[in-house]
Parts: sequence; C-alpha cells; structure tokens
Amino acid sequence: MNNETLLKNLRNVPDFPIKGIQFKDVSTLFKDAECLRIMVEELYEIYKDKGITKVVGIESRGFVVGAALAFRLGAGFVMCRKPGKLPAETRKATYMKEYGKDTIEIHTDAITENDVVLLHDDLLATGGSMKAAYNLVKEFNPKKVYINFIIELTIEGLNGRAVFDDDTEITTLIKI
Ligand code: AMP
Repeated sequence: MNNETLLKNLRNVPDFPIKGIQFKDVSTLFKDAECLRIMVEELYEIYKDKGITKVVGIESRGFVVGAALAFRLGAGFVMCRKPGKLPAETRKATYMKEYGKDTIEIHTDAITENDVVLLHDDLLATGGSMKAAYNLVKEFNPKKVYINFIIELTIEGLNGRAVFDDDTEITTLIKI
C-alpha cells in the first residue's frame, strides 16, 4: 500500500521537461526530513536480511536515497553515471530512449562476484534506463541483483516491469 505521507508530499509538475509529461518531482520528498526517513527506513526493512553488499544508484536522483540506504544497510555505494563523468576505467551500456540513444557507465572495479547488489532509482517509467543498468551490473556476475524504485508509474498504460524477467525482484514504495 502507498505511504500516504510520501504521496501527499510528492510534487507533480505538469509539462516538464516537455509538454504532456507529468513530472514527479522527488526533490519535495528529499527535502522533507520525515519523508527522507520514511523512504530509507521502509527500504531498510525490505532489504535488511538480503545480505546486500552494494547499493548502485542511478544518476542523479538515485544517488540521494541510494547512498543513505547503503549507509543504513552497512553496504557500499556505487554510482552509475552518464557518459564521461567517471574518471577511471568503465563498462558502458547503450539503450534506446523515446528520442535517440543514451549511455550509462560504471567503474570496472565497482562490483565483484561476491557482491549482492541493490539497484536503486527514483522512478520507473518505461524501464529502459534501469534495464540497461541491470544488464551492466549482471556483466559482473554478482551473486544476486535486486531492483528498487521510490515511484512506479502505471498511468497511461506504462508497464516498466514488463521489460524485466518475471523472476527479477522489483520493489516500489509508491504506485501512481
Ligand atoms: P524510464 O527509463 O523510462 O523508466 O525512465 C526512468 C528515468 O527517467 C528515471 O531516472 C526518472 O528520473 C526519469 N523519469 C521518467 N519519467 C518521469 C516522470 N514522469 N517524472 C519524473 N521522472 C521521470
């Protein structure tokens, strides 16, 4: 069930960044101390017994709760970034967006075969960007990969979960 405090505090910005998009602005959840606490603690309760060793956050809104959760879980934090931002050797994944292609990168020494990984981002829409990050993380052959979003968009026929295999474990805190 949706957390009413999170739902109440989430800002919707119509027509951003382009006309027709209802942008879910998580900055209003990040700036509120109680919302930040709820998000981190709810996720901690879900993942505390999973043996997570690395939380991977997707640039940039995935960094905020991702890093706080990593700290809470006693795990490390890894950044999955846009091209050209990471300084050392990287692995890359290119994926199709609505208009054109996009690329994400992760350091080649960021994850090992002994890791249990939790991938985190703020919002699931089509699932394209998380699928690319998931594939990238899988290349490291970690023991297990979990996926989490704060928000899952199911409006207007969106079904981002469909791009993942049925046995992929995905959790979301708010469904809209
Ligand atoms: P997708 O790859 O289609 O699942 O898109 C997810 C990414 O795009 C996330 O990193 C979101 O931050 C961003 N995004 C897509 N649609 C929205 C939206 N309606 N409101 C806020 N962020 C969005």
